[in-house]
Amino acid sequence: MRSKDPVESLPGIGPKKASYLHHLKIRHVEDFLSYYPRDYEDRRTVKSIASLVEDETAVVTAMIQKAETGGYRTGKKRTLRLLVEDESGTLEILFFRSAYLEHTLKKGQAYVFFGKVSRHAGRLQMIHPEVERLESDPVLGLLPVYPLTSGLTQREMRKWVGMALNYKNELPDPLPPDLKERNRLCDLAYALENIHFPENHQKRKEAKFRLVFDELLILQLGLFSLRKKISSAKGGIVFDSNIEFEPFLVSLPFRLTNAQRRVLTEIRRDMEAEKVMSRLIQGDVGSGKTILAAAAAYKAVKCGYQAALMAPTEILANQHYEGLRAIFEPFGIRVATLTGSMKKGQKEEVLSQLASGVIDFVIGTHAMIQPNVVFSNLGLVITDEQHRFGVEQRTILSAKGNQPDILVMTATPIPRTLAVILYGDLDISVIDELPPGRLPVHTTTASTRKRERVYEFVAEELTKGRQAYVVAPLIDESDFLDVRSANELYEEICHRLPKFRIGLLHGAMRPAEKDQTMKAFLDGTLDVLVSTVVIEVGIHVPNATVMVIENAERFGLATLHQLRGRVGRGKDLSHCILVTDGVTELSRKRMETMTQTNDGFLIAEKDLELRGPGEFFGVRQHGLPEFRIADLVKHVRILETVRQEAESLLREDPEFRSPDHKTLGKLVGGLFSQEGQIPL
Ligand code: ADP
Ligand code: MG
Repeated sequence: MRSKDPVESLPGIGPKKASYLHHLKIRHVEDFLSYYPRDYEDRRTVKSIASLVEDETAVVTAMIQKAETGGYRTGKKRTLRLLVEDESGTLEILFFRSAYLEHTLKKGQAYVFFGKVSRHAGRLQMIHPEVERLESDPVLGLLPVYPLTSGLTQREMRKWVGMALNYKNELPDPLPPDLKERNRLCDLAYALENIHFPENHQKRKEAKFRLVFDELLILQLGLFSLRKKISSAKGGIVFDSNIEFEPFLVSLPFRLTNAQRRVLTEIRRDMEAEKVMSRLIQGDVGSGKTILAAAAAYKAVKCGYQAALMAPTEILANQHYEGLRAIFEPFGIRVATLTGSMKKGQKEEVLSQLASGVIDFVIGTHAMIQPNVVFSNLGLVITDEQHRFGVEQRTILSAKGNQPDILVMTATPIPRTLAVILYGDLDISVIDELPPGRLPVHTTTASTRKRERVYEFVAEELTKGRQAYVVAPLIDESDFLDVRSANELYEEICHRLPKFRIGLLHGAMRPAEKDQTMKAFLDGTLDVLVSTVVIEVGIHVPNATVMVIENAERFGLATLHQLRGRVGRGKDLSHCILVTDGVTELSRKRMETMTQTNDGFLIAEKDLELRGPGEFFGVRQHGLPEFRIADLVKHVRILETVRQEAESLLREDPEFRSPDHKTLGKLVGGLFSQEGQIPL
């Protein structure tokens, strides 16, 4: 099996080249095949020299008639000057720093030259064209351009990929024939040949479609299998249908919105069913997700189980803890917190009480997924702000119970089409309504020239007894010169608002310090909180009515929307001021989106449209593998088909037993197992 051999088995690859290739994750011959080009160079049409025009990029094949070095000087550079000819005419070609070429290019031999045509002193030239021997390697056609690191050249890559392609038939085609036929997909070998060295664009497109399909299908199957594994497992907890949410709900100072009620019904149905719940609650900031999670925890505990809520930051975990403990206490439900910064003694006590079942509901951070955390009877796992956690972390926590129900909450609005694949392992509930009486946040932009006026406005609001957030992008000024660091900004704000109490919050602070500062802001002993994005998620201070975001163009729209969600939580009109000198068309459009709408879903759609999903949310953040060729935005239409195919395939053959599905099963199994945590 040559395709599985190490890259060193190909001619021309020694230890050095091999190490460069390893950087690109190319270790075996077959890895070349799935190292897809990022672009192509069109060298299909060889032009005659006589037909060349200035400024075009062209290919000519010509013989070297004359070669001169040295005498022709530009500054201190040694120059090689060639005169080349084909049947139609002659062309001058120049190379600077040409020592290597002087020895390889031979008079009287024909070469391919690819480059831009220019004119000097009335005659046409090519300066520094790519040059290749006519009879070697693939040199004409639609040539692949690969993403490379230093130490490797396109030419070498093309040669090696070309060699690896000789073994393309050794790779089994993972797609079953009927599926290929239904979707008009070409064979794997054809796809590989034509993604690297397509004869024409039509064939390249066929190849790409097929490979994108593969990638999305494998991911979708992986996510579905993950859910199936959880939900088809018999013996999920059947929570007692006689335990009502009502006593809990009437204890709250407000009535649920219709959207909240609908979602709660979905949660209830899942909890009372034998299958394991794995449900995502999507809802814009402030839509009231937490209280639904709390209601689910209430039911789980009343049914005799423990519940756990995991938040991405200590600040958020503490806030949930403070808020929920007060609500649960009257019911005799014992709530505890577990975070990394807790003192050893305290932690040990919580750990032992969790193991013995004294604690009913634990609220914490990643600290909860440590191996030493043991539950006596974990029945419900909740993760907040899911976009911060990967699939793995969620799974580790649930493994601490015996098939507990799972609820995840996210405020990152994700367009349906994408949610389908990103959360393929979850059912989705959407809270598409805000509690009554919320005023939309008034959002404006201001250029840095107007900052003086911005902070005058902040002072006016503070004088009325309100509080304000000021957000700086980065902590350390060394990172980007033009970004105000939180420290620097803090100094400046103290200076600008001397009559007010200013606090500073950033990610490099110790958790205890952070909590202290946050608490002071919550209690109203601080008027202004200068902060980095650590306040992004979940913080709830209804008296805060102003949010100033410096260098706003540096944030993604989703982040800006999250940040803005920190205000507008009380009865008073709130303001969000985006300070930006963003001059590009893109940043102008993005700021415009923010000032025009408060609808998180709309913003998400816009963000995707403007920037693509890679930046919108790192795919990595979701614990998903990186895509080699698929693009979640461009290939949305394929996604729907892929989803249907994945569903029907799993219905028919969930274990990938059929010989037609074996290869596919292997690929799907390898998908999440890199971390060794989710064996399918
Ligand atoms: P998010 O969905 O952003 O996590 P929260 O759950 O933090 O939102 O809710 C924001 C605030 O709204 C909290 O103070 C919560 O108690 C309150 N809230 C939740 N539901 C309602 C409701 N139906 N009516 C009024 N206030 C509500
Ligand atoms: Mg929340």
